[in-house]
Amino acid sequence: AETRAKYQRANAQSAERHEGAKRALPGGNTRAVMFYEPFPLTLTGGRGCTVSDLDGHTYVDFVSEYTAGLYGHSNAKIAAMIKQVADSGWVLGGPNPYEGRLAQAVVDRYPAIERVRFCNSGTEANLMALSTARAVTGRAKILAFEGGYHGGILTFAHGGSPLNAPYPFIFGHYNDIAGVTALIREHAGELAAVILEPMMGGGGCIAAKPDFLAALRAETAKAGILLIFDEVMASRLSYRGYHGKVGIKPDLVTLGKYIGGGCSFGAFGGRADILDRFDPASPNAFGHGGTFNNNIFSMAAGFTGFTEVLTEEALDRMNGLGDDLRNGMNALLGTRNVAAQVTGVGSIMNLHFVGHPVRSPDDVEHADPRWLHLWQLEMLLRGQYVTPRGMIALSLPMTRAEIVAFLDVFADFLDGYRSIL
Ligand code: PLP
Repeated sequence: AETRAKYQRANAQSAERHEGAKRALPGGNTRAVMFYEPFPLTLTGGRGCTVSDLDGHTYVDFVSEYTAGLYGHSNAKIAAMIKQVADSGWVLGGPNPYEGRLAQAVVDRYPAIERVRFCNSGTEANLMALSTARAVTGRAKILAFEGGYHGGILTFAHGGSPLNAPYPFIFGHYNDIAGVTALIREHAGELAAVILEPMMGGGGCIAAKPDFLAALRAETAKAGILLIFDEVMASRLSYRGYHGKVGIKPDLVTLGKYIGGGCSFGAFGGRADILDRFDPASPNAFGHGGTFNNNIFSMAAGFTGFTEVLTEEALDRMNGLGDDLRNGMNALLGTRNVAAQVTGVGSIMNLHFVGHPVRSPDDVEHADPRWLHLWQLEMLLRGQYVTPRGMIALSLPMTRAEIVAFLDVFADFLDGYRSIL
């Protein structure tokens, strides 16, 4: 209650903006992950790896727009490209010079993507991948994972949502090789696809075990089921994508977040024989419209970011800093004997207030949410912008200085609550 009161006193203008927005937006909100009690901060600007808010505070940005902010704020090369687009028209109604180049760069970099199509969000990319799998296999069901998150209506915490209704899902447990193998065999003739993140992001930053991924690849191949890797978040964990890192070739891969250079973006790609069904000149082509599929801001900003900013060296450096942050936080928790841990890979991680091993979202389902809430507000009060669910994502402009400062602040938080944590 004390932390909450301090937060409310420090953020009067954000509170007022939130109250005003409630008149037209349900709960003042149009993005579920951006809500937290008593009200979220209203952001007004960003520079490098910092953001500022309506009450005049500046924060180091460890939300990084849930991984879409990989380039940081106003990267000079991407900003110059966006200005160029803004000066030459942006609803032109035809192919533009950037979409083919961005597609080629994606195909050249990611081993499982032989062809790719663009859309407007990760959600749409996954809906397209699932619908494609159903169309090419002639089967209806999809195997997904408890606690998985694949976008707006594809949210599977606690057994799914009423919004999942258009698709018949079967749910498996992440990293449960025996259980999932049995499920696939039982439903082999009805399953169009198995969809998963090879490193769960929203589900709690939990990596798949290599033998779990290998078992899924073998079982789906045997039964003619398409294996879909949702790499909307995870692609940034290695220069060749997560599937490139683990050496497994899914049939379809979905992308999103940072690949539009910070503009709206989604993509689905994979095997040429599947994607070529979308060639409009081919017989019985799958139609896939979308006014903004090739919107020029996303295509141009995406191309510049992907080819000029996201070098292998820059990505490795950021993921290395992420490993240091995660290891550092775990060391601080360990020396203080707090029953909590930080999971994840490279530059994406999640704090969980549970002491037992975390192998799937089932393992964190019963964690007391009050600890994360306290942590979030206390970190915000100390100038570190973090998510309500304990997720942390790094961005390219970050340096060792931000990591060291975050660890100092985290230690200070832990020491302040040592008696109760
Ligand atoms: N898939 C994963 C793994 C995601 O983390 C997200 C977004 O957080 C999505 C899909 C949905 O992407 P979008 O928010 O662009 O619709």
